[in-house]
Amino acid sequence: MAVIPVDIAGRPYEVRVGTGLLDQLVPLAKGKLRKRAVPIVTDSNVHRIWGERVEAALRDNGHEPQWRILPPGESTKSWQELAATIDWLLALEVERGDHIIALGGGVIGDLTGFAASILKRGCHFIQVPTTLLAQVDSSVGGKTAINTPAGKNLVGAFHQPALVIADLAVLKTLPERELQAGYAEVVKYGLIDDADFFDWCTRNGAAMLSGDAALREYAVAHSVAAKARIVAEDERETTGRRALLNLGHTFGHALEAETGFSSELLHGEAVAIGMVLAARYSARRGQMDQASADRVADHFAQVGMRARLAHLKLSCSGGDLVTHMLHDKKMDAGTLPFLLLKGIGHTYLDRDVPLDDLANFLDGEL
Ligand code: ADP
Ligand code: ZN
Repeated sequence: MAVIPVDIAGRPYEVRVGTGLLDQLVPLAKGKLRKRAVPIVTDSNVHRIWGERVEAALRDNGHEPQWRILPPGESTKSWQELAATIDWLLALEVERGDHIIALGGGVIGDLTGFAASILKRGCHFIQVPTTLLAQVDSSVGGKTAINTPAGKNLVGAFHQPALVIADLAVLKTLPERELQAGYAEVVKYGLIDDADFFDWCTRNGAAMLSGDAALREYAVAHSVAAKARIVAEDERETTGRRALLNLGHTFGHALEAETGFSSELLHGEAVAIGMVLAARYSARRGQMDQASADRVADHFAQVGMRARLAHLKLSCSGGDLVTHMLHDKKMDAGTLPFLLLKGIGHTYLDRDVPLDDLANFLDGEL
């Protein structure tokens, strides 16, 4: 088992990564579960597959799980589900010193974390991420949110978990597409500031995705360590350091918006193409050499992912995609800071991207 400390000032916590950790939930939580009743929020897919295992892990240690089983999918991150979950927690008389368990992917982690952040002005929660994406990205760092009709993740809070338990065994039942989508966020850490890790991905990514346990542990632990380092430097995205984690996301969000945030294009799939676009646009602007930009696209293609914008066969224009970007959360006083690359492992923030040039570039990629 790998143990990765997240050194947030005042509220440090650990991420534990290993195989079979669900069974050890109670000993790993080391006294955090103070009462017999333990509130657990999950979705119906995860509950169907892993519910019994978690039920046994808690009951065998004298606890009684209180399940809240939500519908799977992004639409669960709503005001309605938040309100209902809060009412449920209040009915259970959860106190500020108690810990709520979030068992699931990013949807469950985001909703449960946000509920924990506002329940009685903030109570504790434990992330037990069950998707690769949640294990390497969303369960660490304390960003929580719901969606509103105005857009995704527009309402939320920074609220750090008290502990993250990432069991690699649960990835065995994750659909391949979900696994690949999560892998995009793994590769992202290489592109941001770790060229050696990008090389590692090109050598081992395919075998990792195919199920090699040792490679999975390395990929998840290394990714979590990268995220922990960046988050500890800039918890609330104020210095610009944490913003590097958004590499590929401005392009990616535009693609998600254009495809209606549907299962046609998963978040991680959009981010993979978004990072390829960031690399190719960086090459066009003379910031990065074309061969390096090609390596990014080639790697996603090598692991069987759609790597190029043209693969999506969208019927919109480059200008339409830029219009989506103008609604981005990261818009700052009329400008959109863009993450571009000076090379693999060297991401930087460019505040002077001409949007008409960007639209022309995208027309050429569509
Ligand atoms: P993400 O973590 O990518 O944000 P979600 O929370 O939307 O994703 O989860 C993606 C889908 O995978 C959901 O349908 C969810 O029910 C399902 N899921 C989550 N974890 C597992 C797992 N370990 N095995 C099978 N399906 C899972
Ligand atoms: Zn992401």
